[in-house]
Amino acid sequence: MIRFKSLGSGSTGNATVVQASSGGRATHLLIDCGLGIRQLDKRLAMAGMLAEQIDAIFITHEHFDHVGCARQLALRERIPVWMSHGTWSAIGQPDFEGLLRIACDEVDFEIGGLQVLPFTVPHDAREPLQLTCGDGQRRLGVATDMGHASSHVLEQLAGCDTLLLECNHDPDLLAASTYPPFLKRRVAGAYGHLANGAAAAIAAALQPRGLKQVVAAHLSEQNNRPALAREALAAALGCAPADIGVADAGTGCDWLTA
Ligand SMILES: [Zn+2]
Ligand SMILES: [Zn+2]
Repeated sequence: MIRFKSLGSGSTGNATVVQASSGGRATHLLIDCGLGIRQLDKRLAMAGMLAEQIDAIFITHEHFDHVGCARQLALRERIPVWMSHGTWSAIGQPDFEGLLRIACDEVDFEIGGLQVLPFTVPHDAREPLQLTCGDGQRRLGVATDMGHASSHVLEQLAGCDTLLLECNHDPDLLAASTYPPFLKRRVAGAYGHLANGAAAAIAAALQPRGLKQVVAAHLSEQNNRPALAREALAAALGCAPADIGVADAGTGCDWLTA
């Protein structure tokens, strides 16, 4: 069984725990670590976990809302940390004291009972990766921080039962926001972030290929509203808006089964 819990989602900090359990043994992967270490410890405790239970960390890209305390946590708990070579370069090639593992597009690896498959996404970072996590029965796709859904992204996410999917902004709210013009162009651009409609199109494309559940993530606090993300995804999937989960910036979401 795969369960997951966002510990916080959005430009103020991203972290998600994915748990695979079989036969009494549980594996925990922490995807992104974009919080201070005290805040991360606190949110893990609220999730009923201790940092020492984390078996591996995966960092998707170098933006501060994803890297956060990754190195501090990895060294404190002696946890292996996966990221692309480009991400490692972009954060200044810090010494991980033997704990660094390099992740590559479409090269899968195993963390205990979890099969992890990273894939390249179009985002304005050096070598950004998102990923799917499976246990042989169910598969969770994590897809945030991308400007558009390339055919590569759609191919990698096909067959996922559940998606933690970026719904960054509503185009009208973004256009009317106080963001400076260069930032509006960056966010809405092909290497920026997914609008609600773009996320809905991804969900609609993947539903015939096995998608059953979507949790909206990485919502902009200024340029989106949970109700707008829910409406867009519910319309695409033909379900009620209440069936769509939303990962909150400060509290993430409850433990959910993939
Ligand atoms: Zn981000
Ligand atoms: Zn980013």
